[in-house]
Amino acid sequence: MEKIKTNPAPFDVDAVRRDFPMLATELDGKPLVYLDNAATTHKPRAVIDRIVKFESEQYAPVRRGSYRLGEAATEMFEDVRKKVAAFINAGDHRQIVFTSGATQSINLVAHSFGKRLLAGDEIIISNMEHHANTVPWQMLRDEKGCVLRVIPVNDDGTLSMEGYAKLLGPKTKLVAITQASNVLGTVNPIKEIVKMARSVGAKVLVDGAQSVPHMRIDVREMDCDFLAFSGHKIYAPNGVGVLFGKYDVLESMPPYVTGGDMINTVTLERATFAKPPGRFEAGTPAASQVIGLGAALEYVNGLGMEKIAAHEQSLLEYGTRVLSGVKGLRIIGNAPHKAAIISFWLEAAHPHDVITIIDQDNVAVRGGHHCAQPVMDRFKVPATTRASFSFYNKYEEIDALAENLQKVIKVFG
Ligand code: PLP
Repeated sequence: MEKIKTNPAPFDVDAVRRDFPMLATELDGKPLVYLDNAATTHKPRAVIDRIVKFESEQYAPVRRGSYRLGEAATEMFEDVRKKVAAFINAGDHRQIVFTSGATQSINLVAHSFGKRLLAGDEIIISNMEHHANTVPWQMLRDEKGCVLRVIPVNDDGTLSMEGYAKLLGPKTKLVAITQASNVLGTVNPIKEIVKMARSVGAKVLVDGAQSVPHMRIDVREMDCDFLAFSGHKIYAPNGVGVLFGKYDVLESMPPYVTGGDMINTVTLERATFAKPPGRFEAGTPAASQVIGLGAALEYVNGLGMEKIAAHEQSLLEYGTRVLSGVKGLRIIGNAPHKAAIISFWLEAAHPHDVITIIDQDNVAVRGGHHCAQPVMDRFKVPATTRASFSFYNKYEEIDALAENLQKVIKVFG
């Protein structure tokens, strides 16, 4: 096979890999080749150690204890809110709501912002959304009698901007759109999407689950009203996520989950509610996870988001060329601007068979509908195999995937 030229990474990938204990593990004597980073990412030692330190030396109830330990824990927790705000250039840390993940962030908007919508109001999503950014809007449509409109996707996996323009109108109240598709990899032109939504006075929610971990995000530049993302896809623990919301928009929204911590006063008759973000953070928060998220953001900031993006784009380019050389392999999603995700259909075998066979060599990729069945229907496939890269991946791991696909072809021929 012709040797494909590779760009040197802008950091020492081997040294970075040593920061991630999971990447040094083996199964049946075979090293882990982890190419399922769109599903979830591994944690660097710095994140694991930070959580252990918090749990073993600093743990106390946040936002409750007025004793010194509790106050210190609360300060650390609130400090992460400031870190998140800086990470996405939100300006004001009161615009950062901690949730359990992107799914809950989107549901929060659907239930709270959605409460004000009326029958006939229109919500726009796209044909490439994750179920987390589809089902909440279907539920809202059914409950309120809203109209759900869907932006078509072109054959190359780009969003149809003409299609989008046609859907916008005076009844459009919200556009809920992914910044990067978890199946196609397509990166959507959010700034333009927001600008067009503004022309009809609509708000915009951006699903950043697949973009925030992989590119520099600036919510002020994008001018979106909401941005949702998950901690576990950005090297932080499970169970923590973020909803960014413009303060005036958050302030105008009613509570979603109710209970402790989200109130000002409660009598037996009624309650008054705290200002955001507290209004949307009912109950005891996932403090250790939030602390872990802070450490994860420090870690990626240390590497530099631009450098992360540059290496991942080189992996994408290399992976696209290598996989295109595999007989009977069709890449689904060929947009000019993509996150480092390659979904494909292999003529020889169903994705479930592909992943089972290559798993024998401890190569981990995902096979299935990726919680995005509408985009599977769009491309007329029941499922795809998906390789998704992180800054800790190496070109050799893509070679290992390609070699394993050759084995699959031999088996199913
Ligand atoms: N949106 C996109 C584009 C995703 O890829 C995912 C998860 O894969 C989600 C939303 C939901 O994220 P979570 O399951 O962490 O809430």
